Amino acid sequence: MRKLLLLTLLFAQTAIAQKTILHCGHLVDVKALKVENEMSVIIEGNKITGIEKGYVAASANDKVIDLTSKTVMPGLIDCHVHMDHQTSSNRMKPFTENDADIAFESLQYAKITLLSGFTTVRDVGGQITISLRNAINKGLVVGPRIFTAGKILSSTGGHGDATNGLRNDLMHIPELNSDVVNGVDECRKAVRQRYKEGADLIKITATGGVLSLEKDGSGAQFSEEEIRTIVETAKDYGMKVAAHAHGAEGIKRAVRAGVASIEHGTYVDDEAIELMKKMGTYHVPTIIAGKSVADSARNKPGYFPEIIAQKAIAVGSAIQNAFAKTYKAGVKIAFGTDAGVYAHGKNWLEFVYMNEAGMPPLECIKAATVSAADLLGNDMIGSIERGKLADVVAVDGDPVKDIKAMGNVSFVMKEGVVYKGL
Ligand SMILES: [Zn+2]
Repeated sequence: MRKLLLLTLLFAQTAIAQKTILHCGHLVDVKALKVENEMSVIIEGNKITGIEKGYVAASANDKVIDLTSKTVMPGLIDCHVHMDHQTSSNRMKPFTENDADIAFESLQYAKITLLSGFTTVRDVGGQITISLRNAINKGLVVGPRIFTAGKILSSTGGHGDATNGLRNDLMHIPELNSDVVNGVDECRKAVRQRYKEGADLIKITATGGVLSLEKDGSGAQFSEEEIRTIVETAKDYGMKVAAHAHGAEGIKRAVRAGVASIEHGTYVDDEAIELMKKMGTYHVPTIIAGKSVADSARNKPGYFPEIIAQKAIAVGSAIQNAFAKTYKAGVKIAFGTDAGVYAHGKNWLEFVYMNEAGMPPLECIKAATVSAADLLGNDMIGSIERGKLADVVAVDGDPVKDIKAMGNVSFVMKEGVVYKGL
């Protein structure tokens, strides 16, 4: 018995000592914005413990993974996803699905997101995403590392008010109003409530939006005082604030109040751009979401109610230009797609649209790695460096020559565990 125990201990020690060595044909350095050829990345446990030139030879215990024909980069980060839903023409879902139904659906979205190369996501609004995050962290289900806002905070009649367009008596159902806040006291309380529920960040709807039954898709919907209270309270609890904002006035109020990021930013003007640069505010563009909703509104009659279809065409088509403006002006950019507004797993198309709007491929990859990690405030992810978590992905082909290669993810490792490519 004692012998068996000793053997088990020895085996455990050997297992811990085992290294995984990735032989990388091409390795993207997202900080220096260059690609190095014939490199080795050494992984022990869930961390990167070395990066060396050439293909390092393995000892008997080590495992070598051959990525010599691939372009290897840090695990990708999408800063704007909704892990618990996916676009559908079914308007009855909020009235027919329980949280458990939503949770089971979210499992496939989480899995496809990870297998598409996104090892981390920032979920900016969802009903069950705190529980989904916890289940992934416990290893119960497969998915990306999630940082989530939990439920969105919106003003009455605002983009995140789930009772927009409903019958008068339904507008007062408390469960449907739990994310509606007005005035500084309610704003402060709601941020504290999110903290208590386990949110990692706060998401507000600073302006109107497209996919809600309200007529104005871009007007300001929180006072600057309310947003400032949300930002200051969030800071007390170590949380950043992400602001959904299409119209310029709402963008400016949110930026002045100190939010970390403007999501969408569709009608950003020169004054807002200067403010974002001054305050160091990130722009999270979500071009693919804009294109996708505009396309559905134009080509799928009846997919959206008329009030949404009109906004989808106007707002959706304008987002790529907004990104071109902020990028050229030198605003900080973090990759984000609004996955869920389009089908999960196609997040990579955002790289193509960013590139189309003028951003070189390596900068696109930087926006989805080191810049995204900076927005999250997490220095353990976002680059392949000694001491960081072993989140590594590889694509077939050369994304520097053709950004569409970002759609060919053939290897995914999250915290040293391989999920795709073995
Ligand atoms: Zn969104």
